[in-house]
Amino acid sequence: MTDQDKDQKDKTEKKRQRDDSAQPVVLPGIHRYQFFSNLKDRALTKNLNRLTMFGIITTLGVDIIKPLFRGLTQTIYCYECRACYATQDNCPVGIPFQAELVIASRVCDYRRFINNGGLKCVRCGNCTSFCVQYIELQEVFGQMQTITMEAVRKGKVPETVLVKAMEEGLVGRDFIADVADVLGKGT
Ligand code: SF4
Ligand code: SF4
Repeated sequence: MTDQDKDQKDKTEKKRQRDDSAQPVVLPGIHRYQFFSNLKDRALTKNLNRLTMFGIITTLGVDIIKPLFRGLTQTIYCYECRACYATQDNCPVGIPFQAELVIASRVCDYRRFINNGGLKCVRCGNCTSFCVQYIELQEVFGQMQTITMEAVRKGKVPETVLVKAMEEGLVGRDFIADVADVLGKGT
């Protein structure tokens, strides 16, 4: 770095620094505010902000990457407005909270999917007409059923969840034999 560059850097550095003692005390705590707002003192805050942003981006990344890997891409478009709850009596098996199933599919939460009746969905598509994002819900639920049943067979879903689902009639006839089989082997 040349002397000229150094001079320029020093001048810039000086410009950035404020002399806090020269500032009038207008409000209680104003010096503290100035301390944090000085560029030279912002390192910690900057890093905290970076850390927060990293956290947010990682979470969003997982939210997007996970469904992509599992072929549940459409779930990314759900903005959780819950308009699909309007399906009501149009759902032949009486599933009340379709959005819960979509969110469970997005994050591959088997327990949430089963507890909200995902395994009794008959993929009729009636709820799809209520989705403001035109997500083909019957496709999403069908794919998630396949993934969930794989997890059930591999023993990744706690038995208590399966027993409760069986007792409450949350397992449809397509899967009831398989779930009973898994539970039978476990006992
Ligand atoms: S696709 Fe499933 S959740 Fe939607 S209305 Fe049909 S049975 Fe109910
Ligand atoms: S209506 Fe569509 S976008 Fe809204 S919560 Fe239901 S699935 Fe998601």
